[in-house]
Amino acid sequence: MSMRVTFLGTSGAVPTTRRNPSAVFVNREGDRLLFDAGEGTQRQMMRFGTGFAVSDVFVSHLHGDHVLGIPGLVQTMDFNEREDPLTIHAPRGTGDDVNDLVHAAGNRPSFPVRVSEVAPGETVVRREEYEVRAFRTDHDARAVGYALVEDDRKGRFDRERAEELGVPVGPKFSKLHEGEPVELDDGTVVRPEQVVGDPRPGRRFVYTGDTRPSEQVVAAAEDADLLVHDATFASDRADRAADTAHSTAAQAGEIAQRAGAVRLALTHISSRYAGDVSAHLTEASETFDGEVFVPEDGETREIPYPDG
Ligand SMILES: [Zn+2]
Ligand SMILES: [Zn+2]
Repeated sequence: MSMRVTFLGTSGAVPTTRRNPSAVFVNREGDRLLFDAGEGTQRQMMRFGTGFAVSDVFVSHLHGDHVLGIPGLVQTMDFNEREDPLTIHAPRGTGDDVNDLVHAAGNRPSFPVRVSEVAPGETVVRREEYEVRAFRTDHDARAVGYALVEDDRKGRFDRERAEELGVPVGPKFSKLHEGEPVELDDGTVVRPEQVVGDPRPGRRFVYTGDTRPSEQVVAAAEDADLLVHDATFASDRADRAADTAHSTAAQAGEIAQRAGAVRLALTHISSRYAGDVSAHLTEASETFDGEVFVPEDGETREIPYPDG
């Protein structure tokens, strides 16, 4: 099962020539999910080849740099004669504003667009092998982050052991792997726990949107395989980060460290660091032992399973 993350927009509130406002695209085995949609997101989707077949947009909060891409994206989907429904999830109390964005400039999409308000702690979307949960963040707006959490996978099937026990190769193998006991021709019963290992954890992708360092994020990002965290500033502007309800790279690193995350993407980079993000990388590496990177727009990462 592939899980591919494409960073469509990595700038802070003001875009630069290299960085578009916030948007992160996740393709999980063909399910296409968009986290925030800053202005120009539709062109980034074209440039970086993600396609428009998005089922859900997860809005972290209603600041313009996270949502002004919605009107254009919805209009283009309409021009493309989309018929599939689109669901836009947004923090409780912001549904009317999101609806206004969908209908901006008199736009009346001919495909169904559903706006769904979410509260922290809620499971927002439940699919066959994963869910997306909302969690509280700490910003100067009604704001949530989102965690895509895969279900545990079945344990490894020990083929050799099964053969030793006399299980014939074939349907009884799959039955055991599905968790059912099987009876052999001589009447012996082989139980699944004899040949199937412990369930293996799935992957976790966590997107904070804009936030100060927050205990809720530590909890939500526990064992995250990829944590995408606000790192608007480096430590030279720590005061400004606190005043504007954002985080520094070092703070994002601390959060990732305490959460036990595997890798950390620093994003929402202020335009003052347009040419140089070396301080971000250095400072986050001082507080976080895992892999840190500052994605460029268009950068794509395949997230591996925790056990390889
Ligand atoms: Zn922002
Ligand atoms: Zn904001």
